[in-house]
Order: sequence, then structure tokens, then C-alpha cells
Amino acid sequence: MRVFVASLATETNTFAPLFVDRGAFEEAFYCPPGTHPETPTLCSGPMVAARRRARTDGFALFEGTATWAEPAGLVSQAAYESLRDEILDQLRAAMPVDIVLFGLHGAMVARGYDDCEGDLLAHARAIVGPKAIVGAELDMHCHLTDQMVEAADVIVAFKEFPHTDFLERAEDLVDLCLKAARREIAPESAVFDCRAITGFMTSREPGRSFVDRMKALEGRDGILSISVAHGFQAADVYDVGTKVLVIADGEANRGKAAALAEQLGREILSWGAGGGPYHYKPEEAIEQALAEIGQPVVLADRWDNPGGGVAGDSTVMVEALLRHPEIPAAIGALWDPVAVAFCRAAGVGAEIDLRFGGKAAPTSGKPVDARVVVRGITDDLLVPFEQSWVSLGPAAAVTIGNLDVVLASTRAQTFSPPVFTDLGVDLAAKKIVVVKSSNHFHAAFAPIAHKVHYLDTGGPYPSDTAKIPYTKARRPLAPLDPNPWL
Ligand SMILES: [Zn+2]
Repeated sequence: MRVFVASLATETNTFAPLFVDRGAFEEAFYCPPGTHPETPTLCSGPMVAARRRARTDGFALFEGTATWAEPAGLVSQAAYESLRDEILDQLRAAMPVDIVLFGLHGAMVARGYDDCEGDLLAHARAIVGPKAIVGAELDMHCHLTDQMVEAADVIVAFKEFPHTDFLERAEDLVDLCLKAARREIAPESAVFDCRAITGFMTSREPGRSFVDRMKALEGRDGILSISVAHGFQAADVYDVGTKVLVIADGEANRGKAAALAEQLGREILSWGAGGGPYHYKPEEAIEQALAEIGQPVVLADRWDNPGGGVAGDSTVMVEALLRHPEIPAAIGALWDPVAVAFCRAAGVGAEIDLRFGGKAAPTSGKPVDARVVVRGITDDLLVPFEQSWVSLGPAAAVTIGNLDVVLASTRAQTFSPPVFTDLGVDLAAKKIVVVKSSNHFHAAFAPIAHKVHYLDTGGPYPSDTAKIPYTKARRPLAPLDPNPWL
């Protein structure tokens, strides 16, 4: 058995004014063949899962490049083509292979390529031929396209949001592809297109028990795998929206897979807006936090989450907290490499006049001008997220009265408390902690939080699904149009 594995991933917010070249991949995460660490980094789960199975099962593993760029705007054509061709050349060199495994995201858009993953999978299929098994792991926030499903034998998406299961799903993928290559199973995919922009969190109901039931349905009655492609609404592409993928064992179970996909898809549609949490406006959120007895209350600035391809430099909540100077609070991490450089040059303990944040988008607030005390600095703010480590680059914490602000040089979301604590910010002493993250913060912050609430600070992410100015999306698409299934 000869297996090839590679990873090429980012999530593209086509509305974001942040552009991605090859350098953005090389700076964020770029591992040429054989250099991938033992720990996976979100979309590179198959690299690690395949290595582990190669050791136990004794197959020959050929590693290609694994790379990731922090979610942002459009990827340049040259960046996508050069990375794709690099991986395809590595695949050609490894031929003949029985299995090709990819760690992808599923929402990567490059200039000239609305479906990068479909393009990559189709090229890989053309190289390995119809008999080899082609498998891919996707982030659930993907655009599941016909081209991807046709080119791959097995697609497995993360089930959990926050994405606590990226390595487990990679293990599922490797396992299914090995069984398929040994002809123990014959994967057949069925897709139900919900024709809607939806999404749910698995840290709360109804998503939690839905995913538990999904898992219980797998591995029995001819059903091999179930994935919900939630979709990624911040992309103007034909396939934007929620889809359910069910993989059955053998042609005979295809009808069952299609029926199950539709049943699950209709269940998601039946939740309507009930699938998501309430979003507090800034003042309302502060009032709510003050009304609660314990602390800290964690407020998630969902629509300024770098993980959604936006800058992460919105000052809307900084301004709101500065209007309440009596509240012990912390906010982070705001992306501002220039302000970080000033703080690091000034040094810990320095009192300086600093301008920070509010530069990347008109909905991100205005830059804040304040006299700050530099509380902590670091050459590299490296924080854990499940089995992976994420770098926020050189960083600083500054204090304005009762408010601590973490500033970072690399755009990355606030995955876990060390974003604050590594810079000397004591979260237990804070009434309010604002994190720049949609929901990935949840697993690590929930244990230290008295309560978690979600914010609507007005952007810059296109959060109002009824008003996103799509030009390419397949219509009808709810909530822009009435849902044809309801
Ligand atoms: Zn995701």
C-alpha cells in the first residue's frame, strides 16, 4: 500500500480587503515534505493521522507540502497555482499510489478559481486514475461543490464548532480510505443542498445533540460517514450555503444515504434562526455582564474574528469599555503590528501615548488614542488550540486604567486564555473579557468563564445573511429568497 498526503488550506472572505499571496502561506504555516510537526494544525490533521496509521499498519507514506494561510481575502492566482502545482508534482513523483489524502479547508477562493479544492482534487484524480482512492478532510465552514464530491471518494468534514475534532475526523478519513483501498467498503456519496445560509454551534443546543445523533448513525445500516458542510457566508461563490453529505457503503445503500441527507438537512432548516445564539450590542452586553454575579463574563466579538477572514482590529468594544472606566476588563487580541512594535521598543513599565486599532475597515471603529502603560511584551505569543499551537507573533499587553488590551502582530483568533495570561493579564480579576473569536475560544474559555455571551459590534464580517451582496450565489438561497424546501 502506497499513500500520499498533503495539505493546502485557507478560508477566503471574498468581501475582505486583505489579500493573500504565497508569502502569507509561508509566513503562517509552510512545511515542505517531511517537515510537518508531530502536532496537527487544524487543516493538516490528515498529515498526522496518516503518519500514525503508517506506523501501525505498515504502509508506505509519501508526504507532500502542508501549508495554511490565516483566513483573509482573495488568494492570488500565482499563489494558488504555485502551491497546487508543487503538491501535484510531489504526487507525480510518488506514483503509483493507492490512496491520496488531502487536508483542505473547502472555502479557499483564488483569483480565477472559485473552487480551489475542487480544482485540486480533480487534478489529483486525473493523475492517480479512477481506481486509486482520493480522500479529503474539510472544515465544516466550506462550500461543498459537485466538483469536490465527484473527484473524491471520501470527504469528511469537522463535526464540532468549536473545531475540537479536527484530528479525530482526520483519523476517520484515513480509516475510511484504507478500508476503501482494501475493497472492504465502497463509498457512495449523496448530498442534500439546504439552499440556505445556516450554521450552528456544537457548544450549545440544538447543535450539540444533533451532532451526537449524527455520530451515532455512522458505522451502521450501511452508513459510513455523515458531514454537515455549514458553509461560509462571507464568500461570493456559486456553492455558498449549507449542505449535508452522507457516505453510504455500496450502490445499494445510495438511496438510504440520500434520504438521510435530506432528513438531516430539513431538520437544520426547521431550526430557523434558533440554531444560533443571541447577539448583544456593545452597551447591552456590558449591562448584561454587570447584572451577573460571577466573573469573568466572556464576550465574543464574533464579527471581528480573524478566523473569518477579517482584520481583528475593531475598536468598537475598546471604546465601549473605555466609557465604563470603573469596570475591570480585558480585550484581545487586536491586530496592530505597528502598535506592538512601539510597545516593544518602549519596554515593560513604560507609559506612552499610543494609537492602536481601527485601521482595516470602515466598520472597525476609529483608532484609539490613549496614554497606556506597557504591561507585558513577548517575541512570540504562542497559544494552544486543542492539539495545535497558534502563533500571534510579537505581542504586547497595555493597560488603560482598569482595561487591559492585548495587541498582536499576526492575525489569529483568541483561542485560549494564554493570549492574556502569558502577558501578565489576570483574567480572574476581570469582570469582562472580550475575545476576538467566533466560537473557537469556547472550549478553552468556558472553564474559566462565569458566563459566555456573543456580541454584534457591527462588522466588518458580513453577518446579516439577508443582506449579503452576492452576485454568484446559486439562487434561490434563504434567507435572501424563500427556501424552496419549506
Ligand atoms: Zn471552520
